[in-house]
Amino acid sequence: MKLILLGAPGAGKGTQAEIISEKYDIPTISTGNIIRAALKNGTEMGLKAKAYIDSGRLVPDDVVIGIIKERLSDTDCQNGFILDGFPRTIPQAEALDNMGVNVDAALSIEVDDREIVKRMSGRRVCEKCGASYHTEFKKPANDGVCDACGGKLVIRKDDEPDTVHDRLDIYHKQTEPLKSYYKTQDKLIIVEGQDKVSDTTELVLKALSEI
Ligand code: ADP
Ligand code: ZN
Repeated sequence: MKLILLGAPGAGKGTQAEIISEKYDIPTISTGNIIRAALKNGTEMGLKAKAYIDSGRLVPDDVVIGIIKERLSDTDCQNGFILDGFPRTIPQAEALDNMGVNVDAALSIEVDDREIVKRMSGRRVCEKCGASYHTEFKKPANDGVCDACGGKLVIRKDDEPDTVHDRLDIYHKQTEPLKSYYKTQDKLIIVEGQDKVSDTTELVLKALSEI
């Protein structure tokens, strides 16, 4: 299965991606995670992206398109993949089409802005491995400590409230138009994000089983 996950920042794409990835045995490709890893490793791409990512703006299309092109050529993508956070603009979606990548569906997880702002304030990430948690919805076994690697859990710079508002704005202006883009291709699936992660998962898995 080749799947695109759409949705506002904080709608729970990453969490659902992890579950789908395990169930269908396909990798999740998160442009956000790839960029943050590059940033941590101090690569040239990471340095270029830093100012954008910290301020919540989108990294330029050519940079993320390059990342995706390279990643999709890896052998583990042959049986399918989940794109989490790509495409985020119409030119990115067009680039994917032009690469000859024919996705099965674009699944949009919908959560309203007020709820997003509330959720983002509780989001925490592991500074070592990047795993993400939530103070209310996805607690680690030990407060402030990553289950996976024991790293310290911190607030991502772009999850600060002011930046979240800007990111939502960008989402509505630049990413939401992708819903009509994929609707035209008859690939759009909409799932309402629920309060409980497992309830959203149930809706997501049911929708995917019907593709
Ligand atoms: P979230 O899951 O909260 O939406 P991500 O980890 O996907 O956040 O993305 C964080 C940041 O990484 C974005 O605000 C943006 O700066 C950059 N980024 C990730 N994916 C893309 C993309 N497809 N196009 C442009 N910028 C991107
Ligand atoms: Zn960790």
